[in-house]
Amino acid sequence: MIWKEYNIIKMNQIKKNIQTIRQRIKKSCEKVGRNPKEVKLLLATKTISPDIIKIAIEEGETLIGENKIQELVNKYDDLKKISHTKHFIGHLQTNKIKDLLKCEVNCIESLDKLETAEKLQKRLDFEDKTIDVLIQVNTSFEESKFGINPDSAIDFVKQVAKFDRIKIKGLMTIGLLSENDEQVRKGFQLLKKIQERIIQENIIEVEMKELSMGMSNDLEIAVEEGATIIRVGSAIFGKRNYL
Ligand SMILES: *Cc1c(COP(=O)(O)O)cnc(C)c1O
Repeated sequence: MIWKEYNIIKMNQIKKNIQTIRQRIKKSCEKVGRNPKEVKLLLATKTISPDIIKIAIEEGETLIGENKIQELVNKYDDLKKISHTKHFIGHLQTNKIKDLLKCEVNCIESLDKLETAEKLQKRLDFEDKTIDVLIQVNTSFEESKFGINPDSAIDFVKQVAKFDRIKIKGLMTIGLLSENDEQVRKGFQLLKKIQERIIQENIIEVEMKELSMGMSNDLEIAVEEGATIIRVGSAIFGKRNYL
């Protein structure tokens, strides 16, 4: 098949998939009496080419998320002509901070280490910039996952709040990979609870509006439990082909 035909098929599929996700968000919101406008859809675009990403952006979904700095760098030139917002959702190594800032990332959703925050602050100071962040919390207690331990989350927020170049906007978590919906739900409820506790602490310069939780397979549960950002990849772009 020639590239153009393939692209048209793919384009229609992506449009359909985005509409399906919007319906799923709407239904979950109705179930718990939320306004669907409170929920932002982030396109998880790892392994997806700029051509395909552009189709989704043109469909009106302008928030994208990448989890590898190298991919951010590779796609940067192709995507900068089209207006969009970019979040970083992967594990951030301190030696990649410069590249991340070069790619004009609007928000790092995955801050979970003081050392990273220190180095980020230093670099932002040098460049005279600020950046939004979410604090990643490991609500599923899985060893393999990044994120700060729930018990340390409040202290961590207090420490990061001291860095004036880093603007805390909320929390992020990756749900438990499980068929057991109630176990998955517990993790999202925990993130909500931590958010409420942090709000009560009234920490200066800290905003707690955003809760980034829920992906292709668990977004309904996340929306019911208060997600303001859901991160969706495979349900929009199809199964990923890792290189
Ligand atoms: C890839 C990714 C997603 C999206 O996952 P899907 O199951 O494909 O929707 C969400 N969050 C993070 C951090 C990711 O890396």
